Parts: sequence; structure tokens; C-alpha cells
Amino acid sequence: MLQTIAELFETWFCESRKQSDDFIVVLINKILVGAAALSASDIHFQPGRNGVEIRFRIDGVLHILGCVPLEHSSQIAARLKVFAGLLTYKVDVPQEGRVRSGRVEGIAQEMRISSAPTLFGERIVVRFFSPENQCQSIESLGFEEPVQQYLHEVITRRSGAVLIVGPSGSGKTTTAYALLRELAHCRETTRSIVSLEDPIEHAIDGVAQIEVSSHPDSGKTEHNEKSRTLSLDRMLQYMMRQDPEVLMVGEIRERRTAEAAFQAALTGHLLISTFHGGSAAESIGRFLELGIEPFVLRNSIAFLFCQRLLRRLCSCSKKIEQQLEIRLQGKNLRVQQYFEPCGCSECGGTGYAGRIPIAEILPIENEVIARAILERSATRIIQQLAQEQGMTSIVENVARRLETGQTSLLEAKRVLG
Ligand SMILES: [Zn+2]
Repeated sequence: MLQTIAELFETWFCESRKQSDDFIVVLINKILVGAAALSASDIHFQPGRNGVEIRFRIDGVLHILGCVPLEHSSQIAARLKVFAGLLTYKVDVPQEGRVRSGRVEGIAQEMRISSAPTLFGERIVVRFFSPENQCQSIESLGFEEPVQQYLHEVITRRSGAVLIVGPSGSGKTTTAYALLRELAHCRETTRSIVSLEDPIEHAIDGVAQIEVSSHPDSGKTEHNEKSRTLSLDRMLQYMMRQDPEVLMVGEIRERRTAEAAFQAALTGHLLISTFHGGSAAESIGRFLELGIEPFVLRNSIAFLFCQRLLRRLCSCSKKIEQQLEIRLQGKNLRVQQYFEPCGCSECGGTGYAGRIPIAEILPIENEVIARAILERSATRIIQQLAQEQGMTSIVENVARRLETGQTSLLEAKRVLG
């Protein structure tokens, strides 16, 4: 029996309605437990003219469940805010708080709940932190064999910068954490490991985790004095005095953090970080724009790769045996066959189940690439040279996944734009 997410919601709504005394309490519980069961990463409660629209983000894509009449808006907001210990009577300021695992019956994950005042009432977003047992190892990330080997090589290094590039929602943070966990759990060599995070999602044994603010000047603001978090760049400089061997920086976003990070990598530390960008080659240009000198990039970056997450087609997909010319990121590609999503009860009618990570590894230590960086070559040139040196680009990789039915054309277009 096919049951879509909207149909599921319909059932929850009717069942809750029957228990009229605590309608919203029961409904919210069903929504939270249902979201966790469908592995949603976020739930949105968005008040609008037609009611409070409820959406789940599953595998990076938003799905609309349905609406609850607008008259229940404040009740919904209040119920959710109570879980996170937020002030229910304050409805005109944004608030944010955490919900410990086990606080809500039937939910084992930690959640973060944030509220924001909007025209029709408070918009509430629930974010599920990934389960603690997820992505403990490099293997569990699900990359292809050569990428796994590459990541294993990364953690044997003693110095240099390891940069994981990708747009938001590409899984780069998950990869960084898996590397950190492998380093921390390595029994052969004990290393001094420090990570600077915004926020800390899970405690990792053997790592000194420090919560910082990623905003460079926020150390001075009122908010931060209250929460006592230092800005990332300042904390990074400070931690250099604490004898670290491995440093993880959640994300490099601006010049000062970039400078401090590359400095650490150049002075005998292994630095792991993520960076926002469309491709590995593009990140070089963006670091140059931030004011980092080419020779610093050339000498400090040891590993540079870019990744994407594509939704994996459910086994209910349909094979189309027909040649197809496609254009992805300005490149024309031809596939011999492709697959389309269908939908079944297994995948909640979405046609997809889980995600596939895809990586592009820039051969940063290759002489040709090194020279191109020193000459401040354009992204296009670096990309072309890297492919000549044997790099498989993300687009080529995706085309192969289309042909083998791992993902769909629509999904490839959604992710690669
Ligand atoms: Zn299916």
C-alpha cells in the first residue's frame, strides 16, 4: 500500500483530533516521532495565510506534509518552545535552544529548536542532530573505494591542511567528523587533538572540543559575552599554545580564520576544515580572494577535495532504455540509459532512499597544479589541468551514477544546478 508523507500526516491529524483534550500535544508528538522515523533532518512549522504549514526535510529536500489551522499557531509554538526551555511568552524575538535526547518520548536524537517572529506568527524549526553512532568510520560514509583509501591516507599525515569543500548540505561536516573520530580512536599513536566547533553536536572521546562562534567579531557582542564563546580565529590562535597536533576547525568562512588555519598547517600541525564552494578548483580562487598568498596555499594544503550528496533512487525506480544528451554545469554528456523515480511504501512515495556521496579529489601535490596555483590561474584552467592529470570530476561521476540507476536526472540537476 502506497502511503505518501501527506497521507501519513492526514492519519496523524485525524487520530490526534479524536483525542480532543490535548489535540496539539498529541499531534506534535506524532510529527516529531514520525520525522525521526523517516530520518528527516529538519521540521518546519511555518504559519501563513492558510494555516501552519508543516514540512519535513528528508535527504536534503523539503516535503510538505499539510496544514494545521492558523488558530493553533501559538499553541504549536508554545509546545515546541517548552521542550527546548525557551520563553513561551516572548514571541517577538528569535530564540534557540537544545532538546536533550530522551526528553521527548520516542526520540533518541538530540534536537535544536529555533523560533522566529513572522507576519502570521512564530515560525519554528526543529533540527535533528545526526545520531551519535552515525559516521564513526571512514567506511561508513559510503564513498567509493579510491576515495576511502584517500581518506585513510589523510589521517596518517602529521602536518598540512585537509580541506573538504562543498555547498551547504553536501555532507562535508560529516566527513570531517568521521576523520576526527578515526584519528581519536587510533590506538597505535596517541595524538593531541583539538576541535573548534559551532555548535558541538556530539562528544568525542579523546578530543578537546571547544564551542566557538564562527562570526569573526562576535566576541565583543552582548550575545557572546553571555554565552562566553570566543570567536573562531581568536580561539584558534590561542589553542596553538596548548600543544596540539591535530586541529579541526568547523568551517573557514573569513580571512582571519583562514590565515590562522594555514599558519597552523605550515607549522607542523594537521589541520582539518571545511570550506564553502562549488568545486575543489573553485576553492583555490576563493582563498586567493580572501587574501591568502598562493605560496601559502601551495605549501600548506595537503589534501583538497570537494563532495556532493545525491539522493539514491529507491529500488522501485523505472529504467528508461534510451540514449540521452544532458547538460550539467556547462558540460554536455551522453548516457546510454537512465532511471526515473516512482514511489512505493518503502520510500514514503518519494522515490528515493538514502544518499550517495560523490567526491572530486584535486591532485594538489601534482607539479602542474602547484604551478597553476602559484601563477594564480583561473578556476577553469585549474579544473582543466586537474582533469588532464587524471581527476574524475563530479559531473563525470554523476553521469556514471545516472547510467547505473543510482540516481535520477532530476536529482542530478537539483544538486549540480
Ligand atoms: Zn520506493
